[in-house]
Amino acid sequence: MGQRRRVVVVGGGFGGLACVRELRGAACDVTLIDKKNHHVFQPLLYQVATAALSPANIAAPIRKIVSSQRNCSVVLGEVTGVDVGLRTVTAGGRVYPYDYLVLACGARHAYFGHDGWEAWAPGLKTIEDALEIRRRILLAFEAAELADDPGVRRAELTFVIVGGGPTGVELAGAIAEIAAKSIPRDFRRVDTRTARVVLVQSGDRVLEEYPEALSVRARRDLEALGVHVRTGTRATEVDRHGVTLLVRETGRHERLDARCVIWAAGVRASPLGAQLGAEVDRAGRVRVGADLSIEGHPEVFVIGDQMACADSATGRDVPGVAQGAIQSGAFVGKTIRAELAAQARGGAVPVRGVFRYRDLGSMATIGRARAVAAIGNRRFAGFIAWVLWSAVHVLALIGFRSKVMAMLEWAWLYLFWSRGARLITGEEAGDL
Ligand SMILES: Cc1cc2nc3c(=O)[nH]c(=O)nc-3n(C[C@H](O)[C@H](O)[C@H](O)COP(=O)(O)OP(=O)(O)OC[C@H]3O[C@@H](n4cnc5c(N)ncnc54)[C@H](O)[C@@H]3O)c2cc1C
Repeated sequence: MGQRRRVVVVGGGFGGLACVRELRGAACDVTLIDKKNHHVFQPLLYQVATAALSPANIAAPIRKIVSSQRNCSVVLGEVTGVDVGLRTVTAGGRVYPYDYLVLACGARHAYFGHDGWEAWAPGLKTIEDALEIRRRILLAFEAAELADDPGVRRAELTFVIVGGGPTGVELAGAIAEIAAKSIPRDFRRVDTRTARVVLVQSGDRVLEEYPEALSVRARRDLEALGVHVRTGTRATEVDRHGVTLLVRETGRHERLDARCVIWAAGVRASPLGAQLGAEVDRAGRVRVGADLSIEGHPEVFVIGDQMACADSATGRDVPGVAQGAIQSGAFVGKTIRAELAAQARGGAVPVRGVFRYRDLGSMATIGRARAVAAIGNRRFAGFIAWVLWSAVHVLALIGFRSKVMAMLEWAWLYLFWSRGARLITGEEAGDL
């Protein structure tokens, strides 16, 4: 029997983990490389950013997650080089040879060529991002408490969220609730209920990917919470003092002085994809074939948010969502497993299947106990949708402890409007 095959998986997100799990017990050595030691359940990051959950509720050590899988070793390191000719990847100065490579590095938020805006409008992708946003939100209320000038106080109490997709909607609803319900009694000089939360969306409706009726409902629910929803409006400048908006209908610019601006628009795939020599789209995603491998290199797969793959059913690209990553990861894991098994038997390598994405639905919450959900042909809104959302997310969280802790925190928030993770962490209070 020949040497055991080496499978290198880069990225321990939804896609990478799904792939690794499919290789459990397969006749190969799997090396899972990630630059973080933990897997993050990104759909709940906004809850860390808005002090409803703590980081450990939504993240788990990758080493622990795969500890029972004997053929998998974990490497903590950032992959900086891929050589598809030599079949190696480089991380932390070490070289890892592979027979199969699976890239699952995901994507980060993008500023449409204005990377300098990141300093004033952080995006939400990692635990560190969530803690930074939490810090800025809570510091804004502290600064408003100290401000004597009404104009300054107004700016301190203005929160602008750029991007009306699920993350923007969820952040806007949660911040409005913090200001109106969770903290007013904790402040003496400032009335936090006067805070202004503005959701900026360049398109005609929030949640554009959802059925129109749910967009309308989400907007109504946000407005009921006091959120100013500005559709047909985009940010043209972001700086230390706020945002400049361009209103499409009037063609006029408008200035919003705001201490806290959060970016929830646009994503860009990992730059690593560009090293493969394959076609890369405008968002940095690697174009893959129906079997999710790149042209000319059947041993190199790209999955999840990092891939650009036309859905065989709709012709549209598979969306950058958790299910797209999980399903593509599982598909590639099965493909590799089947080929390894055929090689071990000395039989012919099976013809590869075609990846088919199954849309299991979409959900977004609006505040503490409201949500919208589209599952198949069915639409849900309000409390029922929120119960559904909670159940789906609790079940999807990794680890029994995280599930129990999240349920307890949500019950507490539901009953008492209390957000247990209201800690300003990081650097000292900063320039209040
Ligand atoms: C705030 C937010 C909310 C979301 N909400 C939803 C939702 O409600 N529903 C939904 O379906 N989807 C949601 N998504 C999208 C979903 O989380 C992603 O589609 C999914 O995480 C993609 O999985 P992935 O495995 O491709 O990448 P990721 O989960 O992003 O994992 C990538 C991994 O690769 C690692 N990595 C990156 N570069 C390197 C490198 N060079 N070397 C080593 N490791 C590297 C990273 O550390 C990370 O662990 C949300 C995303 C965000 C950011």
